Amino acid sequence: MSKVEIGIRFASLFGAACFVLGLHFMNSPATARRGNQLSAFGMLVAVVAVLIGVGDSQGAAHMNATRWGVLLAGTLIGGAYGLYSARTVQMTNMPQLVSLFNAVGGGAAALIAVTEYHLDPHVLAGTATATVLDIVIGGVTFSGSVLAAAKLQGYLSKPVSFAGSRLASGVVALAAVGGGVWIVAGAHNQLVLLGVVIAAVLFGVLMVLPIGGADMPVVISLLNAFTGTAVAMAGFVLGNVILVIAGALVGASGGILTKLMASAMNRSVLNIIAGGFGTGAVGTAAVEGAGGPVKSIAVDDAALQMAYASKVIIVPGYGLAAAQAQHECRELGEVLEARGVEVSYAIHPVAGRMPGHMNVLLAEANVPYDQLKEMDEINSEFDRADVALVVGANDVTNPAARRPGNAVSGMPILDVDHAKSIIVVKRSMASGYAGIDNELYTDPKTSMFFTDAKKGLASLVTATKTLVG
Ligand code: NDP
Repeated sequence: MSKVEIGIRFASLFGAACFVLGLHFMNSPATARRGNQLSAFGMLVAVVAVLIGVGDSQGAAHMNATRWGVLLAGTLIGGAYGLYSARTVQMTNMPQLVSLFNAVGGGAAALIAVTEYHLDPHVLAGTATATVLDIVIGGVTFSGSVLAAAKLQGYLSKPVSFAGSRLASGVVALAAVGGGVWIVAGAHNQLVLLGVVIAAVLFGVLMVLPIGGADMPVVISLLNAFTGTAVAMAGFVLGNVILVIAGALVGASGGILTKLMASAMNRSVLNIIAGGFGTGAVGTAAVEGAGGPVKSIAVDDAALQMAYASKVIIVPGYGLAAAQAQHECRELGEVLEARGVEVSYAIHPVAGRMPGHMNVLLAEANVPYDQLKEMDEINSEFDRADVALVVGANDVTNPAARRPGNAVSGMPILDVDHAKSIIVVKRSMASGYAGIDNELYTDPKTSMFFTDAKKGLASLVTATKTLVG
């Protein structure tokens, strides 16, 4: 083994160690930023090591000016675009960006296997299974993630299902598996490969099309796990250890996240793959019990209720993120606390548009971690709360989830309706992501404060300070 090869192996090991340590640092919001930086540095080392390997004597035999041009242009353009989009993306568009990153990760991994097979379908003996898994999982991830990004962006807001969609999913799944088995068994045929690619891409589309409403978070984390698995398979195909390690880490952590999200949503992961839910009550915007008079409240009355409460639970949701009102939210909490009110924040696992969205948002505003309470912990406290202040949260508070037959049925919710009094800050009676009415708004205990969350919370802070000194 040449000195360069030994150096490359050490660099790979170093990169892998950075990934593992980086992931460890992400255990806590306080060290997460450092974890991200360390992982990015590990990735930079790995990419440079690969480039050196390509330029080294063995790799150089396969290279010419055009290939170098393509490789460097891809690295530079991809890297620059990734950096630009990650730095400029709005917090509220982050889930779409993550979905697109999943799509390119899965797609690139699948293309590696396709290229290797295309170059020489006969050298596959040891890596045939990894090649097929890479193509199938990468293909599903690519199309599924592009579609998920479109749904999150609002281009395709409603779940789409059609008669025979499950049968169609079954047929393409069988085609992908059958073609894959044929390749592993030794079919050196590019047409079979093409068939597997098409079947996998179609399966991704059919898997995500019917998912909708409150069920998107589970499918997004599942696609994230798929991306990692496809990348690990690409590592086996190329004999590249760092790809195997990086892919395995993403695949395993994505898998754990999927399990957590599925449990939080009371859903089965197998059902998602089979396209079995999310379609429950497509288009049923009106929910039984949601009609009825709506009471609105003025800022001074809302401020007085909270200032004289002994316990207030703040329930943040997507609207808080959209309005970027986290700092005003923290300030209101502080003003109330200064008056001796006990303040906590109720965190639903799928509030917002990405896993951990509310934790990240409130941590950014320096809300003390011990005030953030997960759903299981806080639900028993709503009974004792004088006021539940719902800020831009909708689906995660909808009591309709406790009944079957609608788009959020079965999803565990925050028991906001158990509080003595409820104040909801949002701009209108519009529905949330699941597209259904929220009967909480017509609950006699609820008062609606119709305003943008940022303006509304700022005016509540001012009113509380002015009214009660
Ligand atoms: P919802 O999407 O249910 O509701 C958000 C509410 O915020 C809307 O009803 C909207 O009402 C209000 N809003 C929007 N902008 C503002 C603003 N500027 N000021 C005040 N209010 C505003 O949010 P939830 O957090 O309750 O639920 C999340 C939903 O998203 C769930 O259905 C979940 O399944 C889904 N989802 C979650 C993902 C995740 O990983 N967390 C990923 C994908 C989907 P109005 O327009 O009247 O102001």
